[in-house]
Amino acid sequence: MLKTEKSRQLFERAQQVMPGGVNSPVRAFKSVGGNPRLIERGQGAYVWDVDGNRYLDFCCSWGPLILGHADPDVVEAVRTQVGRGMTFGTTTELEYRLADFISSKVDAIESIRFVSSGTEAVMSAIRLARGFTRRDLILKFEGCYHGHCDHLLVSAGSGLATFGQPSSAGIPEASTNHTAVLPLNDEDALEQFFAEHGDRLAAAIIEGIPANNGLLIQRHDYMRLLRSLTERHGALLILDEVITGFRLGMTGAAGYYGITPDLITYGKIIGGGMPVGAFGGRTEIMNLLSPLGPVYQAGTLSGNPVAMAAGLATLEKLADGDIHRQLERKNRQFVGRIMARLNGSAVNIAGVASIYWIVFQKELPRSSAAIDPDGISHYNRVHGSILDTGIYLPPSGYEVCFISAAHDDDALEAAAEKLGEAISREAHAWT
Ligand SMILES: *Cc1c(COP(=O)(O)O)cnc(C)c1O
Repeated sequence: MLKTEKSRQLFERAQQVMPGGVNSPVRAFKSVGGNPRLIERGQGAYVWDVDGNRYLDFCCSWGPLILGHADPDVVEAVRTQVGRGMTFGTTTELEYRLADFISSKVDAIESIRFVSSGTEAVMSAIRLARGFTRRDLILKFEGCYHGHCDHLLVSAGSGLATFGQPSSAGIPEASTNHTAVLPLNDEDALEQFFAEHGDRLAAAIIEGIPANNGLLIQRHDYMRLLRSLTERHGALLILDEVITGFRLGMTGAAGYYGITPDLITYGKIIGGGMPVGAFGGRTEIMNLLSPLGPVYQAGTLSGNPVAMAAGLATLEKLADGDIHRQLERKNRQFVGRIMARLNGSAVNIAGVASIYWIVFQKELPRSSAAIDPDGISHYNRVHGSILDTGIYLPPSGYEVCFISAAHDDDALEAAAEKLGEAISREAHAWT
């Protein structure tokens, strides 16, 4: 067992002045038990906690750090900008450069607006879609997370479309009345929904590759059907690429599935570790935003120059595709190595680009309903012993893992050994 006294003491004090000791719930380690590690510093593929323990980090701040911690070029870009001033509340050249960069890479993006989080990007994209279509109804999918704005925190019922049950206290039913929820990976449910409600739908929103409730990789046919149904019914398709944007290569999930959404939302990687979100799409739609059009949207720190500098430095390093290609190879080898060690056990690992997800069941699920909750509890049980080997996995079985450019082959090979051993021990103890 690692020494964790300092983390324990600090976390105790944190709990007295911050609810649950955290500023975002999953950080509290509730699902996996044990004490959260308070991280003091990160470099490359590693983080160090306040007790001095080093971990190979597969959480990577939940996705932004595709280059790893404290990448020298990103740090340099941030330092330079901090020295010139941290915010002006005017348009800056950095904003223009990041906007221009993204729109030059992604077909669907003609025009883009920056905000400060993924939640804010999604919330604004939905308002814009409603303003553009002059319709209210929104369709989302069970198991997709789009941040914590009121009208998307809805629980799913069973089977066909359900409407409007808030999944959090504090949300009036009026806020979710216009949100329908469908299961993923179900063409019949889609067809039926659009036949009944398609003509009053403002937008369907779906994660590029659902990666907030396990990694639920959707079939190309399914995504293409969603694209054609939204188009046919005059509804917009919002692809939420907060995780997948610039992680699935330079064209994200839109490129992966070969679809052109009407709007795309971004966050995480485009901020290079700083708080950034963005939403963009066709000029015709984007020009409805204030000051040009009637859809109001604003932000004091939107397009913050320090954040723009971090994002730009990150995306420029990714631009030639080399890092993405290497990440994909590393992830494939890494997942293959663990799987080889697990032969026969009821464990699987979903992988795409530089994302992987360990799941204690044989079949990889494509919908929430297909995830076995017992499998999740296996993950939660084994998390602590993996942490003790110096590997930091996200503290919930529903969360996915990320590999960064700083994860080198030797570190990954050693980690595959340790993970393979811990996972097969857990799998055999319970099957
Ligand atoms: C992380 C995430 C969000 C929310 O972004 P925040 O910056 O946490 O508000 C929205 N959508 C997806 C797909 C995400 O992964």
